[in-house]
Amino acid sequence: MAVPLLDLKAQHDPIRKDLLAAMEQVLDKNNFILGEEVKLLEEKVANYSQTQYGIGVSSGTDALLVSLMALNIKPGDEVITTPLSFFATAGTIVRLGARPVFADIDPVTYNIDPMKIKEVITSRTKAIVPVHLYGQCADMDPIMKLASQHGLGVIEDAAQSLGAEYREGRRAGSMGTLGCMSFFPSKNLGGFGDGGMVVTNDQELMERIRILRVQGGKPKYYHKFIGGNFRLDTLQAAILNVKLPYLDRWTSWRQQNAERYAVLFKESGLMEKIGLQLPKAVYQDGGVTHYHIYNQFVVRLPNRDGLRNFLKENGIGNEVYYPVPFHLQECLQDLGYHEGDFPHAELACKETVGIPIYPELKQEQQEQVVSKIQEFYNQ
Ligand SMILES: *Cc1c(COP(=O)(O)O)cnc(C)c1O
Repeated sequence: MAVPLLDLKAQHDPIRKDLLAAMEQVLDKNNFILGEEVKLLEEKVANYSQTQYGIGVSSGTDALLVSLMALNIKPGDEVITTPLSFFATAGTIVRLGARPVFADIDPVTYNIDPMKIKEVITSRTKAIVPVHLYGQCADMDPIMKLASQHGLGVIEDAAQSLGAEYREGRRAGSMGTLGCMSFFPSKNLGGFGDGGMVVTNDQELMERIRILRVQGGKPKYYHKFIGGNFRLDTLQAAILNVKLPYLDRWTSWRQQNAERYAVLFKESGLMEKIGLQLPKAVYQDGGVTHYHIYNQFVVRLPNRDGLRNFLKENGIGNEVYYPVPFHLQECLQDLGYHEGDFPHAELACKETVGIPIYPELKQEQQEQVVSKIQEFYNQ
């Protein structure tokens, strides 16, 4: 039995009629650019993220870019972020001519370590971009404390964590200055293409991002700022409006799958035998249910690449998030970092792999994944 890493068909088939009706409505209304579906989604996602305002944008990458632009990040500025994330987190900083300054991760959560942030703050530091990786929030209390002590903006990269909660149920995107979401198909709430959103409680920044989203013009053709084309399509918003009401259900299925993996891996004996490490939800005090929403289920184990080959031969989907940390990427060598600078991130890149966790994953499929992993280490 093959097990895919992700099966979007299983998610869309049960709601196919509603999705088609929503798309047809956009066709009939002929309101393709910033239609009322965008406004509706902005209100709903802002509300879901415990924020006042949402600005629908063209992707998670553009959510980060326009957020940095709104904070006026420019050449010479330093922005502190993690070395372990999707490329957009660092790429958007560099695109504005600013310097990404990395701070190593916590090896248990894979999120940026606030203590390491503290060590690299300088007079040029303007902002911090913590990433809520794999569906779990970064340790935001100490990060926000540092930010307020040094007068820094905080842009939460919540592309993998829409709805994830920190400590007393504070949601991803609501704790920093601005929060960035992605609706790329593989995220917990995915459209039929690219899309994203910025959420915030800051009215002034909300207004600036709305202007930057349409080339920086207000009124149209009169440009106070240099913006871009950062709009979310009405069609994507219409699709996401249909899917959003299911998000909590899908999240709980992901969490159930995570619990089932925990049981299966314990039974497998692999934790003792090879030291396999499961993802750890660290903020689960306070009865919060969304402390980890498992956009990815990332395990740590020895001979990762050998296992990956074996899984591939056996039709078990898997992926490495991410194989190369930012400071070792070819295009970022000018920053002057070297191998060994961020040992926890470097080890994570070598020792971890993401296995299927999507909501519709079945028990038999999970048993198959675990038994194949077991088979590899018993050879
Ligand atoms: C997916 C992702 C992004 C970028 O989102 P896109 O919609 O693909 O542009 C940024 N940061 C992280 C952590 C992501 O996972």
